[in-house]
Amino acid sequence: MRTFLFGLGAFFILLLGCGSPSEESPQAAEEFVWSTEDFSDKRMIRYQIPGFENLTLDQKKLVYYLTQAGLSGRDIMYDQNYRHNLVIRDAIDHLFAEYDGDTSDDNWNEFMVYAKNVWFSNGIHHHYSADKFTPGFDKMWFEKALVESGGPALSEAVLTAMFDPTVDAKKIVLDPEQDVVLASAVNFYGPDVTAEEVEAFYTQEKAGLKNARVSLGLNSKVVRSEDGTLKEEVYKADGLYGPAIREIIGWLEKAVDVAENEAQANALRLLIEYYQTGDLEAWDKYNVAWVSATEGDIDYINSFIEVYNDPLAYKGSYESIVQIKDFSVSEKMSVLADNAQWFESQSTTLPEHKKDTVTGISYNFVIVAGESGDASPSTPIGVNLPNANWIRAKYGSKSVSLGNIVEGYDNTRGAGLLEEFSHDQEEIERAKAFGTVASKFHTALHEVIGHASGKLVEGVGTPKETLKNYASALEEARADLVGLYFITDPKLMELGLVESSEVGKASYDSYLKNGLMLQLRRIQPGNSIEQAHMRNRQMVSSWVYEKGLKDSVVVMVERDGKTYIDIRDYDKLRGLFGALLREVQRIKSEGDFAAGRNLIEGYGVQVNEAIHNEVLSRSESLNIPPYGGFINPRLVPVKAEDGSITDIQVEYPDDFASQMLEYGRQYGFLLGDEG
Ligand SMILES: [Zn+2]
Repeated sequence: MRTFLFGLGAFFILLLGCGSPSEESPQAAEEFVWSTEDFSDKRMIRYQIPGFENLTLDQKKLVYYLTQAGLSGRDIMYDQNYRHNLVIRDAIDHLFAEYDGDTSDDNWNEFMVYAKNVWFSNGIHHHYSADKFTPGFDKMWFEKALVESGGPALSEAVLTAMFDPTVDAKKIVLDPEQDVVLASAVNFYGPDVTAEEVEAFYTQEKAGLKNARVSLGLNSKVVRSEDGTLKEEVYKADGLYGPAIREIIGWLEKAVDVAENEAQANALRLLIEYYQTGDLEAWDKYNVAWVSATEGDIDYINSFIEVYNDPLAYKGSYESIVQIKDFSVSEKMSVLADNAQWFESQSTTLPEHKKDTVTGISYNFVIVAGESGDASPSTPIGVNLPNANWIRAKYGSKSVSLGNIVEGYDNTRGAGLLEEFSHDQEEIERAKAFGTVASKFHTALHEVIGHASGKLVEGVGTPKETLKNYASALEEARADLVGLYFITDPKLMELGLVESSEVGKASYDSYLKNGLMLQLRRIQPGNSIEQAHMRNRQMVSSWVYEKGLKDSVVVMVERDGKTYIDIRDYDKLRGLFGALLREVQRIKSEGDFAAGRNLIEGYGVQVNEAIHNEVLSRSESLNIPPYGGFINPRLVPVKAEDGSITDIQVEYPDDFASQMLEYGRQYGFLLGDEG
């Protein structure tokens, strides 16, 4: 599971207090160019790897090998997102690099924006809204330019996919009125496979399992075989995506040799075994080993992980994040983890839905050294893994905040939104003074306490089975509500983690502003909300707003034709968050699909049109793109004459397109591999 920043204009600076990387070398931080360009609705940001030079040579090698492993799977995400993506990207890469026509031509300029959008989203559908990009250039111009630059000839099917807005218009469709598998363009299922067939297929598969706990369907594509029945094509070394997976394995083998300790090496070996066999029991064994390997300074995520891109939530999207522990901050955060049991017992949830013992919660602030696949260029700011509930219950989970990514956001965000949308000066001052710590603790509580809390009633299926397409949004709501309920708890002050009760207020100000208004910047006029995190935030915000109306807990104030959110009773608001937390936990624990659907559909999907238009027009003048993406540093091995690596140096590329072309050349392992 993962946490995203609310958007580039988020109020809260997530600077990490003492030990913040930039404090060590303020000069360098000042000179570093954080943002390179804006295009479409996006801003490109750079990030640094502070402290890399202090690692041992073996640690540097480990980071290098793991980032290479991550990048080696880059093509997988493109193909998972849509079956024509790789061919289209190849054509785009070619034309972008080789075009020698008129660069003042509008077609060319529109093409450059389209290319960057595709790279940013790992495909031709928007990474967040899931809508297909509309090329602003002429189809004839494109075909001609492609031929003239010696590029590949595209089939009619591929051109139609690019230029016909009605074909595969949406990557993920969650509308219950439609067949979500048929209607979604995402490539986890063959183009003629229906949702009903997939559910029937996995019901049958599940019945035949020796081990019912495995993450069924996580690493495969479901296609129709010649006799009309469904079958799985498994992602593995000699299966689907084999050429990329074999490259990943090669780098992971090198990583084993320089692992920091035996636990880490053991986990890496199991990951290799999983990639070789595609065996889901190996995947679970790997996750148990990985979550137990907590001693090293280097950690990583690499495989088919999050299921947000699958309308049925079976299929894991490929991703990789390589991380270096940020010790000073993590020590502070561990105080929170040490008190996990207190939070569980004090939570508003019903006694029968609480865990008796909360085990193995680990939380770190980390420094990212490289990202790929589903985590790049758009990245989460927090991650909590593994996702398998039984492993989390028995062995715990690892939770990280990506500190230098947040620092990158922080250094490029606009201050204007805070001024424009805050109800009064007090709120602005509060955000400036306490926004940093409020955001930090909301993230920490969400990840460490939130996702780790609660239990299912004996005999109730997993949320994916019971809550279906609402499972993700409800899980995020549950974690957010734990954060919101506890961030105003005096316990945080008692533990010395929070200095003032203003911190909790700042958190509430920000949450409602985003949930009721600001996140609508990401929605096109006339559309409803599809994305799980956004559905969650609007559901939570509009539910507490409605329930608190009679007591004027939260008031929408009109002033000079503009709407502002005024929280008038923070204590009662906390009570409402607590009440909703109890209900959302009950829904998960009991698998109450109807109640879950009513919450999400009733509060989280439909957009208030007047507010939406207002938010769009007020934020337009501020010129802050709603999405940020990151240019990876480049790790360069320094080699001795005998070829051995003597050092790894870090370079900071400053051009997004160049990095994408470089990656296409170096890691295009699946080009020509798909049908
Ligand atoms: Zn989450």
